[in-house]
Amino acid sequence: MLITRFAPSPTGYLHLGHVVNAIYVWGVARAAGGRVLLRIEDHDRIRSRPEYERAILEDLEWLGFVPDQGLHPLMRESDRPQVYEAALERLRATRHVYACDCSRTHIAGEKYDGHCCDRRLKEGRGRGLRVRIDAGAERRGCDRAGQSR
Ligand SMILES: [Zn+2]
Repeated sequence: MLITRFAPSPTGYLHLGHVVNAIYVWGVARAAGGRVLLRIEDHDRIRSRPEYERAILEDLEWLGFVPDQGLHPLMRESDRPQVYEAALERLRATRHVYACDCSRTHIAGEKYDGHCCDRRLKEGRGRGLRVRIDAGAERRGCDRAGQSR
């Protein structure tokens, strides 16, 4: 069974982009006889607010977008760090992620070129993690072996 998800961040009110995405997510799920899960992406601890979360849930319900798991208990990213850490560990173990220290300014407006995929940077403060995409999956970047193209 197809399971899709809708994952708004409670850093603001529901906006038109959310609604377009919700139409798509619920539409794909319903067309395939699948389910939609709702997960609140509250990883931004500074900007996430309970009043935004409440408003998003009320607006989704008003629009008729009710997740198949219901709203109680609500699934929040912050409630499941072990799930995400385990998934990240699997990606690290298979070398599907790598550390990157490129600034947003460095890559602004351009597609990331895989600059850091074979630099073997250690993870740490000021560095993000990027997903290593298999060759052929994108035009630029690096392959699983960590080779730049
Ligand atoms: Zn980089």
